[in-house]
Parts: sequence; structure tokens; C-alpha cells
Amino acid sequence: MLVSAPKMPNVAVFGAQWGDEGKGKIVDLLCERFEVVARYQGGHNAGHTVKFADKHFALRLIPSGILHRDKLCILGNGMVIDPDALLEEIESLRAAGVTIDSNLKISDSAHLILPYHKALDLAREEAAGAAKIGTTGRGIGPAYETKASRYGIRVCDLLDPTTLRERVEFACAEKNAVLATLYHKKTFDPDVIVNAYVHYGEVLAERITNATVLINNQIRAGKSVLFEGAQGMMLDVDHGTYPFVTSSNTIVGGVCTGLGIAPKHIHRVIGVALTKLDVLDEIDEIPVCTAYNVHGEEWKTFPAFAVAHNNYKPVHRTFRGWKRSTVGTTSFKDLPQQALDYIRFIEDETECRISIVSTGPRREETIIR
Ligand code: GDP
Repeated sequence: MLVSAPKMPNVAVFGAQWGDEGKGKIVDLLCERFEVVARYQGGHNAGHTVKFADKHFALRLIPSGILHRDKLCILGNGMVIDPDALLEEIESLRAAGVTIDSNLKISDSAHLILPYHKALDLAREEAAGAAKIGTTGRGIGPAYETKASRYGIRVCDLLDPTTLRERVEFACAEKNAVLATLYHKKTFDPDVIVNAYVHYGEVLAERITNATVLINNQIRAGKSVLFEGAQGMMLDVDHGTYPFVTSSNTIVGGVCTGLGIAPKHIHRVIGVALTKLDVLDEIDEIPVCTAYNVHGEEWKTFPAFAVAHNNYKPVHRTFRGWKRSTVGTTSFKDLPQQALDYIRFIEDETECRISIVSTGPRREETIIR
């Protein structure tokens, strides 16, 4: 699909559902054709899994491009970064033989996740009881909240211990009060945080850069970029199934704000639509949700209140299962007729062409049309 273009277009890949679609594998598959791979939103709540041959990599913050030699990988300003998690990921990838040197850069404007963000995330979910959102408890939501409040602490602050101390002390005064009085949880010593984060700054210093300038210079120099989404479009804070969403813009618009590039630089968009076909192999009947029934009315989309108020019912159309293994199938013509009917129906309903079908977690287990 992409091979015939004279210059590789820049492509955005994002999850077309609620995340866990298997973006890791698809991004990994496409990566080889690009020179730059950039993440634009989310934090280490995302998780990509890449498997090939006898190897298995779990990526959280770092773009899948890191598994390919000579790809420049960028963590954009739209992300929230827990430096401890990042360093752990770097170390575990290195231990698995992955080279991480000047091929990984971090935006100086990305916001940091601090220990009190994680504590607030967990305390709030605990207090919400049955009304909890089901966050990963890693502090992502509270870090985005602090960003929007304009009292956030950014990656660039890691390199300025005086400013860092001022901001951490100010933040701790407020967050500790909430943790102690509202949630009855332990508080944080700003000195301990500052010492740890100054250290992170020293270790990460050479990776910290103005990523907006970097990526725009790469584009200007004719390099092709793969924009790697995390989570899925139904988890978008504005357009998803609020409140069961993540705290950032997962849709393709997030690429522009989360990296600082103009929309004209996104040439193609791939929504990871049909993966895990093999998971359906043994099922007798496959129900596909085609609409929602809300108060007796059929909606093709869900009204804003429906998810939050839990008063909708899915309307299903049922397909016959194919009841035979599709694991590892690499060609469309080898798929059972029922699977082809199911794929055609999805194409008609979504008005999108399905160009890649994944038939197993491994790189090799893929149909490319
Ligand atoms: P992401 O959140 O979209 O990045 O999801 P991941 O890349 O982490 O994938 C979620 C899980 O699905 C991982 O365990 C993958 O190995 C697995 N996976 C991906 N594609 C397929 C597939 O086609 N078939 C099967 N059975 N598993 C898959």
C-alpha cells in the first residue's frame, strides 16, 4: 500500500477502538519504512507488545521504532513522562540487546509525572468506590490535570535544580494537604523528590531537546515520520466514551498539538481496525455491535450522556463463525469465506478499506493487501 510513493509519506497510526488493538505490532511492521518514529500523547499507561521470532518486547513510553536500527525516536511535548519508568524501560530494552543512544530524544516541554500524581490517582479511585474510572493508577490523569492548571513541572525543569525545587515544594504543599486531609494517605517529602528528579535530569540531559524544532527540521530535511498513537480513539478525552477515557487527545489531531507540527505534514492515517482475527476462530456466532438502543431509540453513535449514565444497549448483527484456524495466515485468499464476509461487512460499515489483517501476535502473522 505504501511502497509505490516516491517519497515516503508521513503516516499517523492510532488505535481505532479502546486501545490494546495491537498497535505495537502494526507500528513495528511499518517502522522499517520510516526514518523517525514519534509518540505524541499518553504516558506509561500505554503498552505496546512486539513479538517476532523468539523475541518479546514490552514498550510503554518508548516508540516501537527503537527496535529497529537507525530510527530516530521522539517523545513529544503532548506526553506525560515518569522519568523512573522511562529509565527502567531504557535499561530493560538495553538488557534485551536494543541499542539506545542518540536515537532517543525527549521533548523539553513534556510534563513530568511526580510521585504525588500516582498517589492521588490511586487515592481518588479508591475513594470513588463503584464509580471508579479504572485508571492504571500510574499518575497519568493527575499529571495532565496539573499541566492544564499551569503549575505542572516539565522535562526542562529537570535541568534547573533551583526552579525544580521551587516547583516541587509549591506542589507538595498543595498535594500533601489533599492526600492527608481528604484521603488520609501518606505525604511526600519535597527533598526526597527533588534529589531523585535532579538525578533523573543528569541521566537524561543529553536526550532532552526542543522536540518541535527537531521534528520539523527532520521533516524539512525530507525524512519520513511515523506518528505512533497510544490507547485508542474511543479513549480520547474529548471524543471518547467519557468519563471512561484517558486524559489526552488520542485522535489524530493530537499529533499536531503533541508534537508541534502542522496538519499538512500528516499525509496518511491508519486506524488499527482489524487485528486479532485469530481470536475469533473458535466462536460459533460473532455478534457485531451496529448501533445503540437508548430509551427505545436506535442511535448509530452514542449520545454524550449514554455512557456516563449507563443507559444504552448494544444492537447486534450476528455473523456465522468460521470455526477453523486462521493463525498465521498471510494471504487474503487463504481466509475462510465467513471471515471474508465479516471483513467486507466491517469495510462497508466503517467506509474504510482494511489494508492489514493481523492473524497472530507475531510480525510474521500478518496479511498485507
Ligand atoms: P496496543 O495497546 O494497541 O499497543 O496493544 P498491544 O500491542 O500491547 O497488543 C495487545 C496484545 O495483543 C498483545 O499481547 C499482543 O501480542 C496481542 N496481539 C496483537 N495482535 C494480535 C493478533 O493478531 N492476534 C493475537 N492473538 N494477539 C495479538
